[in-house]
Amino acid sequence: MAFNIEDIARQVAGWIWESSRVVIFTGAGISTESGVPDFRRPGGIWDRFDPEEMTYQNFVSKPESRRVYWELYYNCWKEFAGVEPNRAHLAVAELENRYQKLSAVITQNVDGLHQEAGNSPGRVWELHGTMWQLTCLNCSSEYSWDIVLDALENGEEVENCSGCGGLLKPATVSFGQALPSTVLLQAQQLSVEADLFISIGSSLVVYPAAMLPQLAKDGGGRLVIINREPTPLDPMADLVWEVSAGEAMSEVMEQLYQMED
Ligand SMILES: [Zn+2]
Repeated sequence: MAFNIEDIARQVAGWIWESSRVVIFTGAGISTESGVPDFRRPGGIWDRFDPEEMTYQNFVSKPESRRVYWELYYNCWKEFAGVEPNRAHLAVAELENRYQKLSAVITQNVDGLHQEAGNSPGRVWELHGTMWQLTCLNCSSEYSWDIVLDALENGEEVENCSGCGGLLKPATVSFGQALPSTVLLQAQQLSVEADLFISIGSSLVVYPAAMLPQLAKDGGGRLVIINREPTPLDPMADLVWEVSAGEAMSEVMEQLYQMED
């Protein structure tokens, strides 16, 4: 079985070509080339902050935890600011804009890089929320970071919602906080309806990442897994490709461009 990278890319591109409802599912691995830190890696955020402490319940109930939490968020915000989409994000955007193949991008990432790369915000489903917005935990009003940056810069307490006095928090899903149910339901539905489900840069371990590819298979779709390391769902995939997201997707795009001629 001598498959070279071009053969694999041609196979994936061929399946994209035949499909009309491609779902791209992405995890941290698609953003590493952009320099987005993987918080779970050694030296990452979770070496400096104790994840056990960083729960939604602590954020809501303990002012002291909240201060540490905001310090963490501010650190993340600074690390995220300035990151740009890479060739893998741009390829995914092309599947939507150039080829009209994409029914959805479902992502575990909170970095907003799919939208930045050119995918329509309406097609991007962020399972873990977004780093780029703040939300009031009481009335769900949305705010931009601008309103808290001064306070964070000066080590002061972040103000509450100007409308209702509720607590503000970045619109990401924290430990102990439920996934947004509308997003989750949509993600499940889109996965069932997918004729091709491509997982890129996710270890497919945590829920619901571990479930969506199964739904795609149950719905009769093909499953492609692109990840540098093996995943527990590899046995059910039609194709497993252990390579970086950027390398895989640029090879796939090369093949798609050739199919246009
Ligand atoms: Zn409010």
